[in-house]
Amino acid sequence: MERIDVAVIGGGQSGLATAHALLRQGLQPVVLEASTETSGSWPRYYDSLTLFSPAGYSALPGMPFGGDPDRYPHRDEVVAYLLRYAEHLDADIRTGTRVREVRADNSGFALTLEDGDRLSTRAVVAASGTFGRPHHPALPGLEGFTGSVLHAAEYRTPEPYAGQRIVVVGAGNSAVQIAAELAAQARVTLAARHPVRFARRRTLGRDLHWWLTRTGLDTLPVGRFLRTPPTQPVIDDGRYRAAVAAGAPDRRPVFTGIDGIKVTWADGSTEAVDTILLATGYRPDLPYLASLGALDEHGHPLHREGLPLTHPGLAYVGLEWQRSLSSNSLRGVGRDAARVAHRLAARLHRH
Ligand SMILES: Cc1cc2nc3c(=O)[nH]c(=O)nc-3n(C[C@H](O)[C@H](O)[C@H](O)COP(=O)(O)OP(=O)(O)OC[C@H]3O[C@@H](n4cnc5c(N)ncnc54)[C@H](O)[C@@H]3O)c2cc1C
Repeated sequence: MERIDVAVIGGGQSGLATAHALLRQGLQPVVLEASTETSGSWPRYYDSLTLFSPAGYSALPGMPFGGDPDRYPHRDEVVAYLLRYAEHLDADIRTGTRVREVRADNSGFALTLEDGDRLSTRAVVAASGTFGRPHHPALPGLEGFTGSVLHAAEYRTPEPYAGQRIVVVGAGNSAVQIAAELAAQARVTLAARHPVRFARRRTLGRDLHWWLTRTGLDTLPVGRFLRTPPTQPVIDDGRYRAAVAAGAPDRRPVFTGIDGIKVTWADGSTEAVDTILLATGYRPDLPYLASLGALDEHGHPLHREGLPLTHPGLAYVGLEWQRSLSSNSLRGVGRDAARVAHRLAARLHRH
């Protein structure tokens, strides 16, 4: 069985930032990535997506994003940036390699890969993101809905939904962006338990991220005090607030029941709906850790700021609110990766 020092599971931005940080600690990481690329889930995000963070706040450690730092790059620019970043990393990156299971053994951990191969490693960093595990909340009557149900993870473009009656469930950035885009070609309701909260993209001529950085809010280590990550406000240059105010999409509380294709609203009215789109977020995608005993009953990692209390050679990078607001962002993941790499290096150099 091949023996390595550190296995990084996932070769998206979190895995690449982790590899960069481990190399700086003098370790030789092996990055194991299930897909054939090193751009994580970005190629699978919806086609119109532009970053909510300007280019100047969207780089990983060691390589600027490039171009005008004030522009909001398109999804495809992130894909290209991550591919470039991986090329410049002097790391052993193995694409087409899915990790099926991690077990503890005498030297650390034994990894079983999808093709049955095994690896022995002294440490493991789980950086597999959340996109592979879309969250489907229990909603009144949804299981009996005879129209189509999809998650935002499956949404790419508005064209297939032209002319439909659509309910988008959620109140976060994806929910509002997708609902507004669909509303140009369909009749759309944004249904959420809470009102939508908007945050202005620019204040006094500065981008929100400038303010978050200057005030220290971006890095405030409050993650460990949050039991459930709060819904982030919708970052808006004014167009989404205007769209909701104009009723395209209109906003309502979540439906109270469903009968066939008929949805019942809180005021008792009913109407036929073609599609319900769940923009209800994601959960950590860590099935390969289930048998290790590192997860709680909901599949969430038991950790503090990315370091598990149960398995000292294991670590996480890229969790939502792992340490702070910016933990699972392009601009922030490198900071967490550096902390985790420092701790793992201290442990590996000691033993
Ligand atoms: C719609 C949307 C918009 C966003 N916009 C922004 C933004 O504007 N700015 C910003 O900073 N952040 C943004 N984010 C947040 C975040 O930056 C991205 O979600 C980012 O892709 C997360 O990177 P990651 O590497 O943690 O996860 P992913 O990109 O999901 O990468 C995880 C990788 O792990 C691999 N993997 C999974 N399981 C295994 C396994 N068992 N074995 C091997 N490999 C595995 C997957 O194939 C994948 O390549 C956005 C997120 C979404 C969903």
